[in-house]
Amino acid sequence: MKIPFNKASITEKEKKYVIDCLNSGRICGDNKYTKLVEQKFKELFNTDILLITSCSHALDMTAILANLKQDDEVILPSYTFVSTANCIVSRGAKPIFVDIDPKTLNIDPEKIEEKVTSKTKAIYVVHYAGVACDMDRIMEIAHKYHLKVIEDAAQAIDSYYKGTLLGTIGDYGTHSFHETKNIVMGEGGSLLVKNKDEFAIAEMIREKGTNRKQYFKGFVDKYSWQMPGSSYLPSDVLAAILYGQLERLNEIQTKRKHIWNTYNKLLKEYEKQNLLKCPYIPEYATNNAHMYYIILPSEEKKDEFINFMKSNEIETPFHYIPLHLSKMGEKLGYKPGDLPITEDYSKRLVRLPLYADMTKDELNYIILKLKEFFEREIKHED
Ligand SMILES: *Cc1c(COP(=O)(O)O)cnc(C)c1O
Repeated sequence: MKIPFNKASITEKEKKYVIDCLNSGRICGDNKYTKLVEQKFKELFNTDILLITSCSHALDMTAILANLKQDDEVILPSYTFVSTANCIVSRGAKPIFVDIDPKTLNIDPEKIEEKVTSKTKAIYVVHYAGVACDMDRIMEIAHKYHLKVIEDAAQAIDSYYKGTLLGTIGDYGTHSFHETKNIVMGEGGSLLVKNKDEFAIAEMIREKGTNRKQYFKGFVDKYSWQMPGSSYLPSDVLAAILYGQLERLNEIQTKRKHIWNTYNKLLKEYEKQNLLKCPYIPEYATNNAHMYYIILPSEEKKDEFINFMKSNEIETPFHYIPLHLSKMGEKLGYKPGDLPITEDYSKRLVRLPLYADMTKDELNYIILKLKEFFEREIKHED
Protein backbone atom coordinates (compact mmCIF):
# COMPACT_ATOMS: atom_id res chain seq x y z
CA MET A 1 0.00 0.00 0.00
CA LYS A 2 1.54 3.31 -1.11
CA ILE A 3 0.63 6.24 1.12
CA PRO A 4 1.39 9.82 0.11
CA PHE A 5 1.89 12.58 2.64
CA ASN A 6 -0.94 14.64 1.20
CA LYS A 7 -3.71 14.45 -1.39
CA ALA A 8 -6.37 17.05 -2.21
CA SER A 9 -9.98 15.99 -1.60
CA ILE A 10 -11.97 16.91 -4.71
CA THR A 11 -15.61 15.79 -5.09
CA GLU A 12 -18.39 16.16 -7.66
CA LYS A 13 -19.30 19.44 -5.94
CA GLU A 14 -16.05 21.20 -6.88
CA LYS A 15 -16.21 19.71 -10.40
CA LYS A 16 -19.78 20.97 -10.83
CA TYR A 17 -18.79 24.54 -9.88
CA VAL A 18 -15.72 24.46 -12.14
CA ILE A 19 -17.84 23.28 -15.10
CA ASP A 20 -20.44 25.94 -14.32
CA CYS A 21 -17.72 28.57 -14.30
CA LEU A 22 -16.21 27.32 -17.57
CA ASN A 23 -19.63 27.17 -19.22
CA SER A 24 -20.37 30.76 -18.19
CA GLY A 25 -17.48 32.06 -20.28
CA ARG A 26 -16.52 34.29 -17.37
CA ILE A 27 -13.29 32.85 -16.10
CA CYS A 28 -11.12 35.82 -15.11
CA GLY A 29 -10.97 37.06 -11.52
CA ASP A 30 -13.62 38.81 -9.44
CA ASN A 31 -16.56 37.11 -11.12
CA LYS A 32 -19.35 34.90 -9.71
CA TYR A 33 -17.20 32.43 -7.74
CA THR A 34 -14.74 34.97 -6.35
CA LYS A 35 -17.74 36.89 -5.03
CA LEU A 36 -19.32 33.74 -3.61
CA VAL A 37 -16.04 32.83 -1.90
CA GLU A 38 -15.64 36.33 -0.44
CA GLN A 39 -19.23 36.19 0.78
CA LYS A 40 -18.45 32.87 2.52
CA PHE A 41 -15.32 34.45 4.05
CA LYS A 42 -17.53 37.23 5.38
CA GLU A 43 -19.90 34.70 6.99
CA LEU A 44 -17.01 32.76 8.52
CA PHE A 45 -14.75 35.62 9.62
CA ASN A 46 -17.33 38.37 10.08
CA THR A 47 -15.14 40.80 8.12
CA ASP A 48 -14.11 41.56 4.52
CA ILE A 49 -11.38 39.32 3.13
CA LEU A 50 -9.85 39.38 -0.35
CA LEU A 51 -9.21 36.26 -2.40
CA ILE A 52 -5.59 36.37 -3.62
CA THR A 53 -3.49 34.33 -6.06
CA SER A 54 -1.50 32.82 -3.15
CA CYS A 55 -0.63 33.29 0.49
CA SER A 56 2.86 34.32 -0.68
CA HIS A 57 1.30 37.11 -2.72
CA ALA A 58 -0.95 38.09 0.18
CA LEU A 59 2.20 38.34 2.33
CA ASP A 60 3.85 40.49 -0.38
CA MET A 61 0.82 42.77 -0.19
CA THR A 62 1.13 43.08 3.60
CA ALA A 63 4.73 44.24 3.20
CA ILE A 64 3.57 46.92 0.75
CA LEU A 65 0.66 47.96 3.00
CA ALA A 66 2.92 48.10 6.06
CA ASN A 67 5.20 50.32 3.95
CA LEU A 68 8.32 48.27 4.69
CA LYS A 69 11.41 50.03 3.38
CA GLN A 70 15.18 49.74 3.07
CA ASP A 71 16.85 49.39 6.50
CA ASP A 72 13.62 48.66 8.35
CA GLU A 73 13.86 45.68 10.66
CA VAL A 74 11.15 43.05 10.81
CA ILE A 75 10.85 40.33 13.43
CA LEU A 76 9.81 36.78 12.46
CA PRO A 77 10.60 33.15 13.24
CA SER A 78 13.33 31.39 11.26
CA TYR A 79 11.31 28.19 11.53
CA THR A 80 8.84 29.00 8.74
CA PHE A 81 8.17 28.81 5.01
CA VAL A 82 10.31 31.08 2.81
CA SER A 83 7.38 33.33 1.85
CA THR A 84 7.17 34.82 5.35
CA ALA A 85 10.68 36.22 4.82
CA ASN A 86 10.61 36.85 1.06
CA CYS A 87 7.99 39.57 1.41
CA ILE A 88 10.33 41.39 3.83
CA VAL A 89 13.57 41.14 1.85
CA SER A 90 11.84 41.99 -1.44
CA ARG A 91 11.10 45.42 0.09
CA GLY A 92 14.75 45.82 1.07
CA ALA A 93 13.96 45.39 4.77
CA LYS A 94 15.97 43.15 7.09
CA PRO A 95 14.51 39.99 8.61
CA ILE A 96 15.36 39.63 12.31
CA PHE A 97 14.94 35.97 13.19
CA VAL A 98 13.74 34.98 16.65
CA ASP A 99 13.87 31.51 18.21
CA ILE A 100 10.79 29.35 18.82
CA ASP A 101 9.06 28.05 21.92
CA PRO A 102 9.94 24.33 22.08
CA LYS A 103 6.42 23.48 23.22
CA THR A 104 4.53 24.87 20.20
CA LEU A 105 7.34 25.60 17.70
CA ASN A 106 5.82 29.09 17.36
CA ILE A 107 7.82 32.30 17.77
CA ASP A 108 8.75 32.73 21.46
CA PRO A 109 7.17 36.02 22.61
CA GLU A 110 9.67 36.28 25.47
CA LYS A 111 12.48 36.53 22.91
CA ILE A 112 10.85 39.22 20.77
CA GLU A 113 11.31 42.27 22.96
CA GLU A 114 15.11 41.96 23.20
CA LYS A 115 15.27 42.16 19.37
CA VAL A 116 13.25 45.39 19.11
CA THR A 117 15.31 48.44 18.05
CA SER A 118 14.43 51.94 16.81
CA LYS A 119 14.40 50.43 13.28
CA THR A 120 11.85 47.72 14.02
CA LYS A 121 8.67 48.16 11.97
CA ALA A 122 6.67 44.95 12.22
CA ILE A 123 6.33 41.43 13.61
CA TYR A 124 5.36 38.53 11.33
CA VAL A 125 4.01 35.63 13.35
CA VAL A 126 3.35 32.13 11.97
CA HIS A 127 0.74 29.85 13.54
CA TYR A 128 2.70 26.65 12.98
CA ALA A 129 0.58 23.54 12.30
CA GLY A 130 -2.47 25.78 12.68
CA VAL A 131 -1.88 26.20 16.42
CA ALA A 132 -2.08 29.78 17.69
CA CYS A 133 0.88 31.88 18.81
CA ASP A 134 0.50 33.59 22.18
CA MET A 135 -1.23 36.58 20.58
CA ASP A 136 -2.02 38.61 23.74
CA ARG A 137 1.66 38.79 24.60
CA ILE A 138 2.64 39.58 21.00
CA MET A 139 -0.01 42.33 20.61
CA GLU A 140 1.12 43.82 23.93
CA ILE A 141 4.72 44.13 22.68
CA ALA A 142 3.48 45.50 19.33
CA HIS A 143 1.41 48.22 21.04
CA LYS A 144 4.27 49.16 23.35
CA TYR A 145 6.64 49.78 20.40
CA HIS A 146 4.04 50.78 17.74
CA LEU A 147 4.73 47.81 15.50
CA LYS A 148 2.46 46.30 12.87
CA VAL A 149 1.50 42.67 13.42
CA ILE A 150 1.02 40.33 10.48
CA GLU A 151 -0.37 36.85 11.01
CA ASP A 152 0.87 34.29 8.53
CA ALA A 153 -2.15 32.05 9.08
CA ALA A 154 -1.37 29.98 5.95
CA GLN A 155 -1.93 26.74 7.89
CA ALA A 156 -4.51 28.08 10.30
CA ILE A 157 -7.93 28.08 8.61
CA ASP A 158 -10.68 27.24 11.13
CA SER A 159 -8.37 27.65 14.13
CA TYR A 160 -8.81 29.94 17.12
CA TYR A 161 -6.96 31.87 19.82
CA LYS A 162 -9.13 32.36 22.92
CA GLY A 163 -12.25 32.06 20.78
CA THR A 164 -11.03 34.45 18.04
CA LEU A 165 -10.28 33.17 14.55
CA LEU A 166 -6.61 33.24 13.59
CA GLY A 167 -5.78 35.82 10.96
CA THR A 168 -8.20 38.36 12.48
CA ILE A 169 -6.08 39.50 15.46
CA GLY A 170 -3.15 41.39 13.89
CA ASP A 171 -3.27 44.32 11.44
CA TYR A 172 -3.19 41.88 8.53
CA GLY A 173 -3.86 38.15 8.23
CA THR A 174 -3.14 35.76 5.36
CA HIS A 175 -4.37 32.24 4.61
CA SER A 176 -3.27 29.71 1.99
CA PHE A 177 -5.37 27.43 -0.20
CA HIS A 178 -2.40 25.68 -1.76
CA GLU A 179 -2.93 21.98 -2.48
CA THR A 180 -1.19 21.03 0.78
CA LYS A 181 -3.48 23.03 3.08
CA ASN A 182 -6.78 21.96 4.74
CA ILE A 183 -9.00 23.48 2.04
CA VAL A 184 -7.59 24.09 -1.39
CA MET A 185 -7.89 25.68 -4.82
CA GLY A 186 -4.56 24.46 -6.24
CA GLU A 187 -2.78 27.76 -5.76
CA GLY A 188 -4.46 30.54 -3.84
CA GLY A 189 -4.65 32.58 -0.68
CA SER A 190 -6.49 35.34 1.10
CA LEU A 191 -5.79 38.67 2.75
CA LEU A 192 -7.52 40.28 5.70
CA VAL A 193 -6.83 43.97 6.30
CA LYS A 194 -8.20 45.42 9.53
CA ASN A 195 -8.10 49.14 8.65
CA LYS A 196 -10.87 50.14 6.22
CA ASP A 197 -8.76 52.74 4.32
CA GLU A 198 -5.95 50.24 3.93
CA PHE A 199 -8.46 47.63 2.75
CA ALA A 200 -9.37 49.92 -0.17
CA ILE A 201 -5.66 50.25 -0.96
CA ALA A 202 -5.31 46.46 -0.88
CA GLU A 203 -8.15 46.22 -3.42
CA MET A 204 -6.22 48.56 -5.72
CA ILE A 205 -2.92 46.71 -5.32
CA ARG A 206 -4.73 43.47 -6.27
CA GLU A 207 -6.16 45.16 -9.39
CA LYS A 208 -2.86 46.36 -10.92
CA GLY A 209 -2.92 49.57 -8.90
CA THR A 210 -6.24 50.72 -10.38
CA ASN A 211 -9.53 51.67 -8.72
CA ARG A 212 -11.40 49.18 -10.91
CA LYS A 213 -13.16 47.75 -7.83
CA GLN A 214 -14.57 51.15 -6.87
CA TYR A 215 -15.72 51.61 -10.48
CA PHE A 216 -17.67 48.34 -10.33
CA LYS A 217 -19.13 49.32 -6.97
CA GLY A 218 -20.34 52.53 -8.65
CA PHE A 219 -18.17 54.86 -6.53
CA VAL A 220 -16.32 56.37 -9.54
CA ASP A 221 -17.40 56.66 -13.19
CA LYS A 222 -14.06 55.71 -14.76
CA TYR A 223 -11.25 53.60 -13.45
CA SER A 224 -7.58 54.42 -13.81
CA TRP A 225 -4.10 53.90 -12.47
CA GLN A 226 -3.84 55.12 -8.87
CA MET A 227 -0.69 53.56 -7.40
CA PRO A 228 1.86 50.76 -7.89
CA GLY A 229 0.16 47.38 -7.97
CA SER A 230 0.07 44.03 -9.69
CA SER A 231 -2.27 41.21 -10.61
CA TYR A 232 -3.06 39.33 -7.42
CA LEU A 233 -6.54 38.22 -8.45
CA PRO A 234 -7.00 34.48 -9.07
CA SER A 235 -9.04 33.08 -11.94
CA ASP A 236 -12.70 32.39 -11.15
CA VAL A 237 -12.09 28.76 -12.21
CA LEU A 238 -9.89 28.32 -9.14
CA ALA A 239 -12.33 30.27 -6.97
CA ALA A 240 -14.99 27.73 -8.02
CA ILE A 241 -12.90 24.91 -6.53
CA LEU A 242 -12.51 26.83 -3.27
CA TYR A 243 -16.21 27.60 -3.11
CA GLY A 244 -16.93 23.86 -3.12
CA GLN A 245 -14.26 23.33 -0.45
CA LEU A 246 -15.71 26.05 1.77
CA GLU A 247 -19.10 24.36 1.58
CA ARG A 248 -17.35 21.14 2.65
CA LEU A 249 -15.25 22.75 5.38
CA ASN A 250 -16.94 20.94 8.28
CA GLU A 251 -16.85 17.59 6.52
CA ILE A 252 -13.15 17.97 5.65
CA GLN A 253 -12.29 19.15 9.15
CA THR A 254 -14.17 16.28 10.82
CA LYS A 255 -12.25 13.77 8.71
CA ARG A 256 -8.88 15.43 9.34
CA LYS A 257 -9.50 15.64 13.08
CA HIS A 258 -10.39 11.94 13.21
CA ILE A 259 -7.03 11.03 11.67
CA TRP A 260 -5.16 13.50 13.91
CA ASN A 261 -6.84 12.10 17.04
CA THR A 262 -6.16 8.51 15.99
CA TYR A 263 -2.44 9.27 15.65
CA ASN A 264 -2.43 11.20 18.89
CA LYS A 265 -4.11 8.45 20.91
CA LEU A 266 -1.47 5.92 19.88
CA LEU A 267 1.57 8.17 20.01
CA LYS A 268 0.76 9.71 23.41
CA GLU A 269 1.49 6.25 24.84
CA TYR A 270 4.96 6.25 23.31
CA GLU A 271 5.48 9.84 24.43
CA LYS A 272 5.03 8.65 28.03
CA GLN A 273 7.96 6.32 27.40
CA ASN A 274 10.08 9.21 26.09
CA LEU A 275 10.32 7.74 22.59
CA LEU A 276 9.01 10.92 20.96
CA LYS A 277 7.26 14.22 21.55
CA CYS A 278 3.68 14.80 20.31
CA PRO A 279 2.23 18.17 19.25
CA TYR A 280 1.21 20.39 22.15
CA ILE A 281 -2.01 22.47 22.00
CA PRO A 282 -1.97 25.27 24.61
CA GLU A 283 -5.10 26.09 26.65
CA TYR A 284 -5.67 29.24 24.58
CA ALA A 285 -5.54 27.45 21.21
CA THR A 286 -7.68 25.05 19.20
CA ASN A 287 -6.45 22.34 16.87
CA ASN A 288 -7.48 22.54 13.19
CA ALA A 289 -5.75 19.26 12.35
CA HIS A 290 -3.57 20.88 9.74
CA MET A 291 -0.59 18.73 10.62
CA TYR A 292 0.45 15.81 12.77
CA TYR A 293 4.14 16.04 13.50
CA ILE A 294 6.36 14.16 15.93
CA ILE A 295 9.73 15.10 17.41
CA LEU A 296 12.13 12.19 17.70
CA PRO A 297 14.96 12.00 20.27
CA SER A 298 17.75 12.61 17.73
CA GLU A 299 18.41 13.47 14.10
CA GLU A 300 19.62 9.89 13.54
CA LYS A 301 16.37 8.50 14.96
CA LYS A 302 14.41 10.82 12.70
CA ASP A 303 16.32 9.57 9.63
CA GLU A 304 15.77 5.99 10.80
CA PHE A 305 12.03 6.68 11.16
CA ILE A 306 11.75 8.27 7.69
CA ASN A 307 13.66 5.35 6.13
CA PHE A 308 11.56 2.76 7.94
CA MET A 309 8.34 4.42 6.76
CA LYS A 310 9.75 4.82 3.25
CA SER A 311 10.59 1.11 3.10
CA ASN A 312 6.91 0.54 3.89
CA GLU A 313 5.87 3.04 1.19
CA ILE A 314 4.61 5.66 3.65
CA GLU A 315 5.72 9.20 2.99
CA THR A 316 6.75 11.06 6.19
CA PRO A 317 8.64 14.24 5.26
CA PHE A 318 10.65 16.44 7.60
CA HIS A 319 9.82 20.14 7.45
CA TYR A 320 11.56 23.51 7.28
CA ILE A 321 15.27 24.01 6.92
CA PRO A 322 15.55 27.03 9.25
CA LEU A 323 15.73 30.18 7.14
CA HIS A 324 18.74 31.53 9.04
CA LEU A 325 20.72 28.40 8.06
CA SER A 326 19.87 28.70 4.35
CA LYS A 327 22.17 30.19 1.70
CA MET A 328 20.10 33.38 1.87
CA GLY A 329 20.25 33.37 5.70
CA GLU A 330 24.03 33.21 5.48
CA LYS A 331 24.03 36.20 3.10
CA LEU A 332 21.96 38.05 5.70
CA GLY A 333 24.69 37.43 8.27
CA TYR A 334 23.28 34.50 10.23
CA LYS A 335 25.25 31.43 11.28
CA PRO A 336 24.69 28.04 12.91
CA GLY A 337 24.18 28.37 16.64
CA ASP A 338 22.23 31.64 16.43
CA LEU A 339 18.85 30.00 17.18
CA PRO A 340 19.51 26.78 19.12
CA ILE A 341 15.92 25.59 19.65
CA THR A 342 14.98 26.11 15.99
CA GLU A 343 18.10 24.24 14.92
CA ASP A 344 17.57 21.35 17.32
CA TYR A 345 13.85 20.79 16.70
CA SER A 346 13.92 21.20 12.91
CA LYS A 347 16.43 18.33 12.76
CA ARG A 348 14.20 15.97 14.71
CA LEU A 349 10.72 16.70 13.33
CA VAL A 350 8.74 14.57 10.86
CA ARG A 351 5.18 14.85 9.59
CA LEU A 352 2.70 11.99 9.18
CA PRO A 353 0.34 11.60 6.21
CA LEU A 354 -2.87 13.58 6.77
CA TYR A 355 -5.61 14.09 4.17
CA ALA A 356 -9.40 13.99 4.34
CA ASP A 357 -9.79 11.12 1.86
CA MET A 358 -7.50 8.74 3.77
CA THR A 359 -9.25 5.34 3.85
CA LYS A 360 -9.71 3.20 6.98
CA ASP A 361 -7.32 0.65 5.49
CA GLU A 362 -4.68 3.31 4.87
CA LEU A 363 -4.99 4.68 8.40
CA ASN A 364 -4.87 1.19 9.93
CA TYR A 365 -1.79 0.38 7.90
CA ILE A 366 0.02 3.53 9.06
CA ILE A 367 -0.95 2.81 12.68
CA LEU A 368 0.38 -0.74 12.29
CA LYS A 369 3.72 0.53 10.98
CA LEU A 370 3.98 3.19 13.69
CA LYS A 371 3.46 0.47 16.31
CA GLU A 372 6.03 -1.72 14.62
CA PHE A 373 8.63 1.07 14.73
CA PHE A 374 8.09 2.13 18.32
CA GLU A 375 7.62 -1.39 19.76
CA ARG A 376 11.01 -2.20 18.26
CA GLU A 377 12.39 0.90 19.99
CA ILE A 378 11.08 -0.35 23.35
CA LYS A 379 12.77 -3.73 22.79
CA HIS A 380 16.06 -2.01 21.92
CA GLU A 381 15.92 -0.01 25.13
CA ASP A 382 15.37 -3.08 27.33
C1 LIG B 1 1.94 27.31 2.69
C2 LIG B 1 2.55 28.43 3.41
C3 LIG B 1 2.80 29.67 2.80
C4 LIG B 1 2.66 29.89 1.32
O1 LIG B 1 1.38 29.71 0.83
P1 LIG B 1 1.15 29.74 -0.76
O2 LIG B 1 -0.34 29.89 -0.86
O3 LIG B 1 1.65 28.45 -1.30
O4 LIG B 1 1.86 30.90 -1.31
C5 LIG B 1 3.29 30.70 3.57
N1 LIG B 1 3.53 30.54 4.88
C6 LIG B 1 3.32 29.37 5.51
C7 LIG B 1 3.58 29.26 6.98
C8 LIG B 1 2.83 28.27 4.79
O5 LIG B 1 2.62 27.10 5.42
